[in-house]
Amino acid sequence: MHSSFRLLTVHAHPDDEASKGPATIAKYRSMGVHTVLVCCTGGEEGEILNPAMDRPEVRENLAAVRFEELQKAAKIIGYETVHMLGYRDSGMADSEANSHPDCFAAAPFAEVVDALVELLRAEQPHVVITYPDEQGLYQHPDHLRVHDITQPAVELAADSTHRQDLGAPWSVAKVYYSTWSHARISARHQAFLDLGLESPFDERWFEQPNTDHKITTKIAVDDFSEVRRAGLLAHASQIDPASPFWFGLPAEVESALHPLDDYRLAHPKWNGVQPSETDLFEGLKPEDPAA
Ligand SMILES: [Zn+2]
Repeated sequence: MHSSFRLLTVHAHPDDEASKGPATIAKYRSMGVHTVLVCCTGGEEGEILNPAMDRPEVRENLAAVRFEELQKAAKIIGYETVHMLGYRDSGMADSEANSHPDCFAAAPFAEVVDALVELLRAEQPHVVITYPDEQGLYQHPDHLRVHDITQPAVELAADSTHRQDLGAPWSVAKVYYSTWSHARISARHQAFLDLGLESPFDERWFEQPNTDHKITTKIAVDDFSEVRRAGLLAHASQIDPASPFWFGLPAEVESALHPLDDYRLAHPKWNGVQPSETDLFEGLKPEDPAA
C-alpha cells in the first residue's frame, strides 16, 4: 500500500540530503513510495573540504559541480525527483554572502514560502520531512530558514483562498523533523574511544540540550546503511573520504550503531500520549491524506 504514498523532504544545501535521513528515503523508495527532494540553495558558499577536489576548475564552477554531485547522490539515495528552489547559499552567519541579493536567508519570507507552496501543491506529498527548531551546534542561516518556511508553506498549500495561481490546494498529512539523536552521537563517540581512536566529537556536542525524549518515530534502516556512505561520497567536493567524522568507524560498527533513523512528529500537533511510531505513514490512507 505504500506505493501510493508520496514523501517530500526539504533541505538547505546539496549534501544535506546525504547526511540527514538518506537511509529512510532508500527504504521508502524500495517500498514504492514516490520520493521528492527540494533543495533550497545551490551550495555556492560551501568550502571544498576534500583536498583531492581542491582544484581551480572545481573552485570556479562550484555551483555546477555541486549540482552534479547532488544529482548523483539523489540517484544513489533513491530520490526520484529533485527540485532546486533556486536560491543562493547564504553562507555562515555574518559572512559576506549573507548580504547577496539572491541569498536564501535574506529573500522575502512570503516569496520563499510561496515557492515551496507551489512545489507542495504540484507534488502532493502525504509526508514532509524538514529540520527541527533546535538545530544544535550547526546554526547555519539556510538550515534555520528551512525550518522556518516549512510549516507556513504546509498551511498555505492547504488554504484554498491562498494564491490559486500556485495550483490546487493540497493538505500534507504529516510533517516530521529529522534528528541526530543524542544517544547516537554518544554511541559513536564511545565507539571511537573503545577502538582507541580519537573521537571527532568534542565536549561542545555534549553541551547541547538532549531532545531525545521528543523523538516520536523510529524507522528501521538496517538494510540501507550503505546508501549513507555512498550518498556522502557522491558529494566529492564537500566530503573528504578520509574524514574521521563521517568515515572514522569501520562500516559494520557504524551500521550497528545506527539501525534506526529518528524523527519527531511536528504536524499534526499531538496532545497527551506521545506517539510511538515505526512508520512515517502510520495511520494514513493514501486516498485520504488528511485522515
Ligand atoms: Zn547544509
